[in-house]
Amino acid sequence: VKTNRTDSFSSSFVSKMQASGRNVIVLYGSQTGTAEEFSSRLAKDAVRYGMKAMVADPEECELDEISKLADINNNLIIFCMATYGEGDPTDNAQELFEWLNDNGGGVELNDVNYAVFGLGNKTYEHYNAMGKLVDEKLQEMGATRVVELGLGDDDCNIEEDFVSWKEKLWPAVCERFNIDATASDISVRQYAVTEFTDTPEQKVFKGEPARLGSLKNQKPPFDQKNPFLAKIITNRELHNGGDRSCMHVEVDIEGSKLRYESGDHIAIYATNDSFLVDGIGKRLKIDLDTVFSLTNVDEDASKKYPFPCPTTYRTALTHYLDITSPLRTNVLKDLAEYAKDEEEKKQLLLMASSSNEGKELYNNWILKDHRHILAVLEDMPSLEPAIDHLCEILSRLQPRYYSISSSPKLHPTAVHITAVLVDWTTPTNRNQKGVATWYLKNKIPMENLQPTAPVFIRKSQFRLPFKPSTPVIMVGPGTGIAPFRGFIQDRAAQKRAGKPTGEMVLYFGCRHRAEDYLYEDELKEFVEEGVLSKLHVAFSRDQKDKIYVQHLLRENKQEVARLLRKESAHIYVCGDAKHMAHDVDLALQEALEAEENWTSQQAQDFLKTLRSRGRYSCDVWS
Ligand code: FAD
Ligand code: NAP
Repeated sequence: VKTNRTDSFSSSFVSKMQASGRNVIVLYGSQTGTAEEFSSRLAKDAVRYGMKAMVADPEECELDEISKLADINNNLIIFCMATYGEGDPTDNAQELFEWLNDNGGGVELNDVNYAVFGLGNKTYEHYNAMGKLVDEKLQEMGATRVVELGLGDDDCNIEEDFVSWKEKLWPAVCERFNIDATASDISVRQYAVTEFTDTPEQKVFKGEPARLGSLKNQKPPFDQKNPFLAKIITNRELHNGGDRSCMHVEVDIEGSKLRYESGDHIAIYATNDSFLVDGIGKRLKIDLDTVFSLTNVDEDASKKYPFPCPTTYRTALTHYLDITSPLRTNVLKDLAEYAKDEEEKKQLLLMASSSNEGKELYNNWILKDHRHILAVLEDMPSLEPAIDHLCEILSRLQPRYYSISSSPKLHPTAVHITAVLVDWTTPTNRNQKGVATWYLKNKIPMENLQPTAPVFIRKSQFRLPFKPSTPVIMVGPGTGIAPFRGFIQDRAAQKRAGKPTGEMVLYFGCRHRAEDYLYEDELKEFVEEGVLSKLHVAFSRDQKDKIYVQHLLRENKQEVARLLRKESAHIYVCGDAKHMAHDVDLALQEALEAEENWTSQQAQDFLKTLRSRGRYSCDVWS
């Protein structure tokens, strides 16, 4: 039993469901909040079909109890499960993952009904591994699948995948329970608002993720719920020209007791642009500094507030809510009731509907045009949503992760970040600024000004081989170089300490030698020092035809095959998940086929074995 399980929950979620007349429970495995948000939407839907549901974090549930759901008439357990990294469960679903792999220690789930929606991304190799595992294991354990497994692809349109799956889920559930499948159209509010005029200042949340005052009154240990307010001690431009910007940021972790290793990630709790926040305040004619609380109307819910409360609308919109992503369909549906103009109302409802016309409009008007809340408010002048309702339905603002680009062996008290600025123009001509990268961009240390940022460190599996003498190949175009800078620094420290270090080969790629060759001088010095044995750089736009890292891997196939086959080297890939990682994998396959006279199947099998032995690792994002 985990120590962090809350007493109220560990007492028994099934008894709780029975006591409050619920027959549906939704468990989520969530890393960035989407699966949790989808779970809340499913629980709200259940009400529309006359059922009562609760949402729970599997980490807070006694999992063996799932079998006791059989005691509840018309029971249903829904899993919203995200897959994370290399096919892994999310942190909060780790225990569930182990429980499933152990077949629940032999429990039988006869007479338990279930449904699974997986959240994944097709650009990653182990697409939706966790959703698939849950579905398969529940079947094996004897539970009854009510509707086919739903697979959401975040690379394409996960909102549409979810909505389409829900459309099959509820009729299937109603059929199984023999109940009326017509959903009532009521808007279900999960939270009730209270506004305050006399709350003492020190009782009002000001952006702390969990504990009141935690950013002022800092107490270790620092983690996701209790980030460290770190000083930004360096912030410089890495590009030498061109119209993009890439930042080298150094974060001071001295005195925090935070430890990191090369390959770990740092998370940044950024805030939204005040221009957007003020824009929403003005458009809705509200006093952003009003103190309020949103409290769950369901007294049994494990989550009392959607975000730390009491707080002000300004703080909620600045620290807690995502106001820059395209709106989800459930938000459009709830907004529709506030449209005074019939045409606007119709358009909102159409986009929230499951008709093909509605989906197409949603795809174009919301996704392609990237309309966030302010854009929708601007383009639908008759919309006057209540601010508290808006705060309830917008997603939570998530921390952003960065592959740490330094080694603790050279920089024990500083974490380095290499981040490319996100800044683009939407089809409706709105300038879209990346939340975290612009937040960092504006954190320039000056003589009389010490900027800070709340951070925490997340351990990763992306590690150099245990023995410094094991050779490595690193492939990291663009900001994909980040963790490798840490790896190289690691090996440099070991070499300087007299340890024998193995071959280190780096494949880097950028657009132009003169503009975005990140850390050029440093890399060349590491070559001179003998830390980096080979530095292969692909400049994609300095000639007519593109040259990418994978072209250089193919060119150097002899070296690749020698290192991987004969020298037991480890290979690492970092950066773009969408195309690069796949293209690199293909190039490796081809290099091995050519050099080893293998069939493509043999080459694929070899790479698969490397992966399973932890000798081929990826740290990729899209
Ligand atoms: P956001 O506000 O999140 O905006 C980004 C979103 O805007 C995109 O997801 C996309 O939907 C949209 N978008 C952006 N550009 C365009 C465009 N041209 N056209 C259409 N839509 C667009 N980033 C780094 O720079 N360096 C790293 O080392 C690094 N390491 C990472 C490690 C991990 C494990 C992960 C998960 C991510 C990593 N990232 C890294 C990415 C980083 O976390 C952020 O996603 C990135 O910095 C953007 O954050 P933002 O808040 O500035 O942008
Ligand atoms: P970048 O500078 O855009 O690209 C680095 C180099 O990789 C360039 O030379 C580029 O060439 C090349 N490249 C493009 N496609 C490739 C492919 N399929 N295989 C191999 N190389 C390829 O990189 P970056 O700005 O550092 O970003 C790295 C990746 O991270 C981006 O591709 C993006 O997907 C992702 N990213 C996402 C966000 C976000 O907002 N979520 C933010 C930052 C980065 P050309 O450009 O000339 O084709």
